[in-house]
Amino acid sequence: MSFSSQVKEELIRVQPEKPCCMLAELSAFTQTCASLRLAGRGRVRVVYETENAAVAKRIFLLLKRRMEITPQLEFNRHKRLGGRRLSILTVPEAESRKLLIALRMVQESDSGPVYKGLPRTAMTRRCCRAAFVRASFLGGGSLTNPDSGYRLEFTATEAQAEALMKMLEKSAIKSKTVQRREEQVVYLRRGDDVVNCLALMGAHRALMDMENTRIGRDARNQANRARNCDEANLKKQLSVGGEQARAIEMYEAAQGLNALPGNLREIARARKTHPEASLEELGQMLEKPLGKSGVHHRLQRLMALIREDQIQGGEHKDDQESAESDGHHAHEQETK
Ligand SMILES: [Zn+2]
Repeated sequence: MSFSSQVKEELIRVQPEKPCCMLAELSAFTQTCASLRLAGRGRVRVVYETENAAVAKRIFLLLKRRMEITPQLEFNRHKRLGGRRLSILTVPEAESRKLLIALRMVQESDSGPVYKGLPRTAMTRRCCRAAFVRASFLGGGSLTNPDSGYRLEFTATEAQAEALMKMLEKSAIKSKTVQRREEQVVYLRRGDDVVNCLALMGAHRALMDMENTRIGRDARNQANRARNCDEANLKKQLSVGGEQARAIEMYEAAQGLNALPGNLREIARARKTHPEASLEELGQMLEKPLGKSGVHHRLQRLMALIREDQIQGGEHKDDQESAESDGHHAHEQETK
């Protein structure tokens, strides 16, 4: 089951108890799932359509309990939906008007009725805001699986999107909106906002699942970062140590290590035989063990000396190049 379906299954069990909240839910369902079928001269029928049978049942009960309206219920297998069953609830004409007035969705204007607006308490009471957001999610929301990043979305009408954003803002939840085809989409991307929204709607189990996934993922990321860092350090160590060892070998072939001062000779031998060793490890190999910075300092002096030797006169450089392929030959040239 998708994460969206899990959340919806949990939310459908959260029942609005107070009349104010029932009205707020009805308002959100009406904006999300209903269309107004105009029948001329301001007459209208409200028709709800949803693929989610549990949502259809919820709307049916809300209409009955809160509004004493019994809608007509039919099912339709929809070709466009791949044969999935669509629940259709039709509110009779006389009662549609009563419903829209209760929801404050119909306002008379000079050019006839205007369909927009919210129940009075939807914006002001926290209980009603929670109910409105919950029903908006049940009717047109989705939540992408936490493994692929968080994104909680509501598809909404323009009026509903505006209301939703204001309500979310009142609960300190940041949302953005984008136009997708003919719908407005209100979406949350930050993990904290998604978690707060789940809490507001009452999806506490989903919230826990999500937090657990989030903690697991953070721990995994941290472990990965640490491992990458170790690997990078090791590679760097290997390449720097390897380069030093090669330079020392060339120098030895050309000059012999005896030309070096005693303490540099010792570190040169240690590095030559242990190109992979860290500075600490090298320090431990010395007769008088040395700390990391001491080893670093000594290696720098050794390398500077070797470089200087390479730069002085092209002969040496040539010698060293040939020394790589034939050490004896190079040594002979040197001693001539
Ligand atoms: Zn309420």
